[in-house]
Amino acid sequence: MPTPASQDTFEAGAFHPDYGTRRVAGSLNIDGGMATFTSDAGLFAFPLTGLQIKLGGASDRLVFLEHPNFPKVSIFTSDHAILDHPSFAQDRTLTRARDRIRRRKLVARCITFGLLALLIGAVAGVWFAKDPMVRAIARQVPVEWEQQLGDTAFQQISARHKLITDPAVQRQLDLLAKPLLAVVPQDRYPFTLHIIEDASLNAFALPGGNVAIHSGLLLAADTPEEVLGVLGHELSHVTYQHGMRSMIQGVGLFAIVQAFLGDATGLLAVLANNAPFLLTQKFSRDFEREADDQGFRYLEAAKLNPRGMISFFEKMRREEEKMKEQLPGGEELEALSFLSTHPATAERMARLEQLLAKSPRKDGFTKVNVDFKEFQQALRASLSAPEKGKRPAKVDPKSGK
Ligand SMILES: [Zn+2]
Repeated sequence: MPTPASQDTFEAGAFHPDYGTRRVAGSLNIDGGMATFTSDAGLFAFPLTGLQIKLGGASDRLVFLEHPNFPKVSIFTSDHAILDHPSFAQDRTLTRARDRIRRRKLVARCITFGLLALLIGAVAGVWFAKDPMVRAIARQVPVEWEQQLGDTAFQQISARHKLITDPAVQRQLDLLAKPLLAVVPQDRYPFTLHIIEDASLNAFALPGGNVAIHSGLLLAADTPEEVLGVLGHELSHVTYQHGMRSMIQGVGLFAIVQAFLGDATGLLAVLANNAPFLLTQKFSRDFEREADDQGFRYLEAAKLNPRGMISFFEKMRREEEKMKEQLPGGEELEALSFLSTHPATAERMARLEQLLAKSPRKDGFTKVNVDFKEFQQALRASLSAPEKGKRPAKVDPKSGK
């Protein structure tokens, strides 16, 4: 494509003593060695020889043309194409001035892009640092406050559900969990285990250390290791402060950054009286994975066979499928479900299998020193009458075991 014939006329404006203090709009023509400005108010011209060009105006948006012989006159245009006019290439002074302007524009552009890159970097940095920031802030939340929040949420649950308080059953559960709890750091809060009378296979943990297991889960488990696998996962939700971190994440990046910089008032205002949130939240995929991994490590450290964790996942998976068959509409599982639907159960199991394969303690796990059948019998005996009949059948009665 041929380059278009060089442009000679540009939209322009001018200051001229004849026009008073106002500027006048018109057009500028470069031709025949002259720069000619035409407007309704009249016409005047500069010779190109001796012409001075420079940038000016806000952000150097304008090109100014001035001539020492006409010190009070100034022509300007926002059309930077004027710098490419061939007439300017013929005059060495003008060429130099033009090159100076181009360099200046280049530097300005570099600075602009540099600043933009910095800004994007800063925003991205804040975004990627969001998780560590949330983690750091969660650590700063006073323990008592976190416990109070968890206790309030637990009170709301226990008002609607029956707790099994039989001391003999509780003692056996505590005994069962003892080796696991021994390796879980409890410097921040002690853990309290609860049994909720409910036939569903569920367990959940609240900030501050309340961990609840449904009777249905305890009765559906075939081995104490399966119960311990679920517990390891739930305890990890507590030690990793997943409930608190979800709440903090929920209040938005601005409040987080603010809190991180030392002003937590906005964050606290949003979090105050937010205990009900804990009952409806679903943990993120990352948090579930983190709880699986850490739960696995707790079991490993306690010399408890993590195989139980995997086999209970398998039970849950079959239960899930059964529920889907029974409820073709797909009734939502409870929000606090141990087995949240994401990440997929199969994916979580595969991950745990990998961890087990890599585990330095592939065998050499200690036997749990609890009569599990006796514990289940005592638990069943403590259920209220209607629930006893509703004991969930083995997930797959045909599978034997
Ligand atoms: Zn979980």
